[in-house]
Amino acid sequence: MDAAPWLELLNSDWHDYRGSGRREDRLDDPRWLEGYLGRWVPRPDRLDRRTARRALRDLRDAMRVIVDPLVCQQKARADDLARLNALFEKVPYVRRIEAAGGKLVLVEVPVGGPLEIALASIARSFAAKLAEADISRLKICQNKDCLWVFLDGSRNKSRRWCETTCGNLMKVRRFRQRRKRARKSA
Ligand SMILES: [Zn+2]
Repeated sequence: MDAAPWLELLNSDWHDYRGSGRREDRLDDPRWLEGYLGRWVPRPDRLDRRTARRALRDLRDAMRVIVDPLVCQQKARADDLARLNALFEKVPYVRRIEAAGGKLVLVEVPVGGPLEIALASIARSFAAKLAEADISRLKICQNKDCLWVFLDGSRNKSRRWCETTCGNLMKVRRFRQRRKRARKSA
């Protein structure tokens, strides 16, 4: 299953969870960028790559500064929310009723340039999730080398690591530390 667009963008600034210090910004990868924007833009290859990259990086920052306080059970700052609202203002939605296969469907169509529509759609998926979901499920992987953002779907909201890889890595590290301490005190 594909990750939600907002999660995918947040996590596009990849950190090596094993602690090598290696980072990889997926936005620098033209194929990743085109594939990602291709979900909203019919011809992503026609967009100015630098403009698109800068705009996506801005949106990623804007989302990250909202996520950071929320995962610490603090409120999102009004100034930070205003950055998203500024994006929404650029892309209003108009409603249209259309006939589709003997049925009538009500559709909401965004109005704006292709890049603006993509940005507003990503921001919309993020804002909708924050507004609808249980915010206490929003988490950042506690592996300091990883910092992956995820939604904790576990029943008692007890997940601390992004995936089993980080969980296993932390288990091995804790085991080694315990063994080291045991050796020192022996
Ligand atoms: Zn992780």
